[in-house]
Amino acid sequence: MIILVVNTGSSSLKYQLFDMDKKEVLAKGLCERIAEDGHMDYKAGDKTVFDKDIALPNHGVALQYVIDALTDSEYGVIADMNDINAVGHRVVQGGHLFNKSMVITPEVEEAIDRFSVLAPLHNPPALVGIRACKQVLPNTTQVAVFDTSFHQTMPEESYLYPIPMEYYEKYQIRKYGMHGTSHRYVTERCVELCGKDRSELNIITCHLGNGSSITAVKNGYCYNTSMGMTPLDGLIMGTRTGTLDPSVVSFINEQTGMSASDVISMFNKKSGLLAVSGISGDVRDISKAAAEGNHRAQIAREMLLKSVRHFIGAYAAEMGRVDAIVFTAGIGENDIDLREKVCGSLEFMGVKIDAEKNNTRGKETEITAPGATVRTFVIPTNEELMIAIDTEALAGE
Ligand code: AMP
Repeated sequence: MIILVVNTGSSSLKYQLFDMDKKEVLAKGLCERIAEDGHMDYKAGDKTVFDKDIALPNHGVALQYVIDALTDSEYGVIADMNDINAVGHRVVQGGHLFNKSMVITPEVEEAIDRFSVLAPLHNPPALVGIRACKQVLPNTTQVAVFDTSFHQTMPEESYLYPIPMEYYEKYQIRKYGMHGTSHRYVTERCVELCGKDRSELNIITCHLGNGSSITAVKNGYCYNTSMGMTPLDGLIMGTRTGTLDPSVVSFINEQTGMSASDVISMFNKKSGLLAVSGISGDVRDISKAAAEGNHRAQIAREMLLKSVRHFIGAYAAEMGRVDAIVFTAGIGENDIDLREKVCGSLEFMGVKIDAEKNNTRGKETEITAPGATVRTFVIPTNEELMIAIDTEALAGE
C-alpha cells in the first residue's frame, strides 16, 4: 500500500510517501513559506532532486506541486496520483473525543475544527491540509492521527486540573498532552526491544527537542504526561517556560500593562532556555557557550537537566516501578552529555548506563550498563511512520 503522510503548519507542508509493503520512504520533502515567497524541496529516496524557490500561494497549490513531483515522468516515484491508497494527516488536538486515529468523515472534520480553540496554531492549518487533499485527491481515504490520542488513557487524577469543575464541564479545560504520536512510537519500539507484553512494562519516554515532554507509560499505556492543555506546560524548552506559577501572568499584567495573551505569547516564544541563556534556544549553542564558561548558558543547561530529572523522578514515584527509560527527539537522541548527567543522578532508582554505548547519536541503541534494574534506550522517533502505519490499518479496513 502507498501512503502519503502530510504534516501541515500555518505556512508549511511536510510530506513523506511510504511504500508500506517494502517499509520504505519513496520520497519526501517540505513546502515552506506558503502564501509568502514560497520554497519547496523534493527528495526521491535519499537523493535531493530539487530545492528551489517557487510561488506557493496556498496549501492547495503546494499539494498539487507535491503530486506533480511524485508522479513526474523523469524523477517521480509513482505513475499516477491514484496510486496513493490513502493520506495520513498529523492533527495536534483531538480533544476528549479521539483516543485513536480516525478516517476523516465530515463529523471528524467538524470536530477538528471545533477543537481549534484548544490548538489555535495547529488545528486550523491541519484542516487546510485536509481540505487541500480532498480537493486534489477526492477519491482517496484520509486519516487523522491525533497528537493527543495516546494520552487519552490518562486517569482523571492525571488529567483534571484542580479548578472548579464547571471549567472542565463547560470548556473542556484539562490536561491533554502533546507529542503523543512520538511517545506512542517509541513506546511500541521499546516494548518490542524489551520482548515483553506491554502490560508488563512501566516506561518513561522523554521526547526532548525544541518542544519537550515526558510521559509516564504505566502497563503499556499513558498514565501521565508533562504537557498540559497546551504545549506550554511541563519541562523548560527552547523558547517556552514550561510549568510556572500562573500568578506571574496577572502580576506582569499589573506591573507592565501587558495583556494576558501577550504574556502567554512571551512565555511561548521568548522564554525558556533562550531567555535564561540570553544566547539561543538551541541546546547546541547553549552547550558550546556553557563549555566556554558563559554563566547564563551554564544555568540554562542546569535548568534543562533539572527539569528532565524532575519529571522522571515524579513519574517513577507515581508509577511505583520503572522498567525502562527512553530518550528521543533532537536533544534526547543526540545529547550524550545530557543523557550521562541525567542518568548519572538516577542510579538510586536502578538506572545505570554504559558510557561507551551512550556514545551514540540518532541511532536506536540500548545504553544500559550491567547491574542496572532499569533499562535505558535511545530510540529515534518516527512520527511519520507511526502515522503511515495507522493510515494503512484504517484504509485497509
Ligand atoms: P527537534 O525539535 O526534535 O528537532 O530537536 C531540536 C533540538 O535538538 C535543538 O535544541 C537542538 O539543539 C537539539 N540537537 C540537535 N542535535 C543535537 C546534538 N548533536 N547535540 C545536542 N542537541 C542537539
